[in-house]
Amino acid sequence: MLIKERLFTPGPVPLPPQVIKALGQQIIHHRTPEFTHIFKDVREKLQKLLKTERDIILFSSSGTGAMEASVLNFFRKGDRVLIINAGKFGQRWKEIASQFELKVVDYEIEWGKTYDRDRVLEIVGEFPDIRGIFVQQSETSTTTYHDVKFLGEISAKLEDCILVVDGITSVGVYEVYPEELGIDVLVTGSQKALMLPPGLSVLYFSEKAEKRLSRSNLPKYYFDVAKEAKKQQKGQTAYTPAINLIIALNESLQLILSEGLENLAKRHQILAQATREAVKEIGLKLLSESPSNSATGVYAPAGIDADQLRKKMLELGFRVAGGQDHLKGKIFRIAHMGYFDFNDVIQIIAGLEMALYKTGLPIEIGKGVKKAQEVILNHT
Ligand SMILES: *Cc1c(COP(=O)(O)O)cnc(C)c1O
Repeated sequence: MLIKERLFTPGPVPLPPQVIKALGQQIIHHRTPEFTHIFKDVREKLQKLLKTERDIILFSSSGTGAMEASVLNFFRKGDRVLIINAGKFGQRWKEIASQFELKVVDYEIEWGKTYDRDRVLEIVGEFPDIRGIFVQQSETSTTTYHDVKFLGEISAKLEDCILVVDGITSVGVYEVYPEELGIDVLVTGSQKALMLPPGLSVLYFSEKAEKRLSRSNLPKYYFDVAKEAKKQQKGQTAYTPAINLIIALNESLQLILSEGLENLAKRHQILAQATREAVKEIGLKLLSESPSNSATGVYAPAGIDADQLRKKMLELGFRVAGGQDHLKGKIFRIAHMGYFDFNDVIQIIAGLEMALYKTGLPIEIGKGVKKAQEVILNHT
């Protein structure tokens, strides 16, 4: 029987037809007025996305490249930094910072939970020389949302501290305005809510962060923000850019901006809520106590291996993600960031119910779907 494969993974994500069309075009040369025109347009759209007039830098790399750039360009060897380490990507901040010999205060948090405000206050009280706070606004590995505004307020009160936010699965899902949230460095990547293939990363930096560019003393060559900023202000890049991805980004940003940022955030909120409530109605437990609207992590039922369940879902045409590290085999993750609508939620819940049924669980088919339909009807 024909089965279409549907991607419900938190990166890569399905591409809108406008993006696929842009990617199918003949390449243009990047040292041309034609490219410069598109590049300037893309940078202006990114400014609208983040509601800022400041420079936004693009790198040809996956999201981790921009994470590394955030450490390399705004810190000095030996700087003390606080890492909100609540999952695989929080751990990545810690690894990058340690690799470049920053002094890491590792605030390790149980996976699926968010940080405790009092504990953060305690840590900054204990280490007044903290030069940076690192966090993911949406920790994809645990599908957890971390409030960044509070951290922005704390960071602003410290003598010389910047807030560095991994927004790779929050930008394009929430309204993320760094100037309102007190974010000094914000990074994102192409293959998540920006609805593109992997290969582009984006970096915003505040005025406060900009002052650190000249005093940073960590080794860098490709990921040099000052060098790129100078070039990119002129509509060029220091090295060959991912030309076709930039052209496609222009299309996906067009889609995002024409939907409207408030509407986009509302849509993700409804998709996530419908998924969460449907999953609970089926009798399953959510992984996160502070769930993100970009993806929903769910525990497999007792006695069932989550990866076996995922295999059943794939046989039905639904590709979802599994758990990482100690959550492997225990959870699965359903994405709803980017090019997703209400009907996608109904499909994936139907698929989940059928897969559970096929594992032999005595489940009542259609209960979750009904719940998802109700949530959607209540909100549209
Ligand atoms: C996907 C992701 C990244 C970056 O991963 P890459 O594979 O380098 O693109 C970083 N942080 C979060 C929260 C992510 O979801």
